[in-house]
Amino acid sequence: MPGFELFGSAERKEVNDVLENGVLMRYGFDGMRNGHWKAKELEAELQSSFQTKHVHLVSSGTAAVSVALAAAGIGAGDEVIMPSFTFVASFEAIMMLGAIPILVDIDDTLTLDPKAVENAITPRTKAVMVVHMCGSMGNMDALQVICDAHNLVLIEDACQAIGGTYKDKPLGSIGDLGCFSFDFVKTITCGEGGAVITNTNDYYLNADHYTDHGHDHEGSDRGAETHPFLGYNFRISELHAAVGLAQVRRLPEFLSIQKKNYTVLREALSEIAEVNFRRVPDGGEESYAFLNFFLPDLEIARKASKNLKDAGIDACFHYFDNNWHYVRKWNHLKDIKSLFPISAEVKAGLEYLETKAFEQSDHFIGRNISCLIKLSWTEEEVKLRAQKMVTAIQQSLKS
Ligand SMILES: *Cc1c(COP(=O)(O)O)cnc(C)c1O
Repeated sequence: MPGFELFGSAERKEVNDVLENGVLMRYGFDGMRNGHWKAKELEAELQSSFQTKHVHLVSSGTAAVSVALAAAGIGAGDEVIMPSFTFVASFEAIMMLGAIPILVDIDDTLTLDPKAVENAITPRTKAVMVVHMCGSMGNMDALQVICDAHNLVLIEDACQAIGGTYKDKPLGSIGDLGCFSFDFVKTITCGEGGAVITNTNDYYLNADHYTDHGHDHEGSDRGAETHPFLGYNFRISELHAAVGLAQVRRLPEFLSIQKKNYTVLREALSEIAEVNFRRVPDGGEESYAFLNFFLPDLEIARKASKNLKDAGIDACFHYFDNNWHYVRKWNHLKDIKSLFPISAEVKAGLEYLETKAFEQSDHFIGRNISCLIKLSWTEEEVKLRAQKMVTAIQQSLKS
């Protein structure tokens, strides 16, 4: 997945454009910037790649998720349904707005189980946030039906699945709002950065103003702009956008390398009868950023994870025992460890976490191994890796 592996001359050229005139900010300074508008150009590139009406860049993927929720008017006391398996940014972004994360089970797609979503809906539910984890996606049709029936906002966190599609539509462009991250380890990197995409004009304008202190961005005099509502600063800088601009133009190349490397590893592992691959919803095409598979039980998966490490295979994760991606280890959320007071309403709203068991999620995450697909591997490295993986997994299957 990581675009940083292929950082090179194209990225340096775009950054140098910015360094030449020194305008590091995306807004204003028209006279000084010598025609360079990297953030605007990157937004235009993303708009055409994602076949979406609006794109707004932000400072990170976490900011993107928070801004998407804020743009849809979600805040204090509102419940947002999210999966038990995701990056911690999902609940951070919800908590930041004073809203309440409602964690529900995933299924064999490793994303939201639509039945679990439906069962978690209450009169306070305002949004469903599907997280397209590890290069593949949730069942968007099923989630859309649920959201339509209950008048909920559907937000897609596509931070780990840029380039994947569902029924020929780019992931992120299907729900009401989509979020991307361009942090250092994502498929496309800006160093730090993110984007919110939407086809809804109001959501776009809200995101545009909210991320820049509420500035309306009308007219050419920044000092004279009005502030229709409260905002904050989640701006991307021109330097970061410049890196992303070079990277996004290489996205098709990155995706084809990912697919090629993924296919070699998958074909090798397919020889092992006990290995089952993660289900991709009908009509879905992965981004191939990760290869995900299930082993027969938790103990075998633990053994396999250890054997893979011992064989020198890096970047294969057993998320069941990982701190950052699975509910089992999110004690700082369960115990509400916050620097500042949290409202009584949110505290009460999170009490369910003390008792809720995530048996179905445990069943899948306990047996899952998730291997990052790198862009810089040579053909030989991929072949050798495939062999070593097969051996390590076969060893874990022997009792
Ligand atoms: C990386 C990631 C984020 C957060 O992105 P940052 O740019 O690191 O803030 C959010 N959600 C998912 C699923 C991610 O993988």
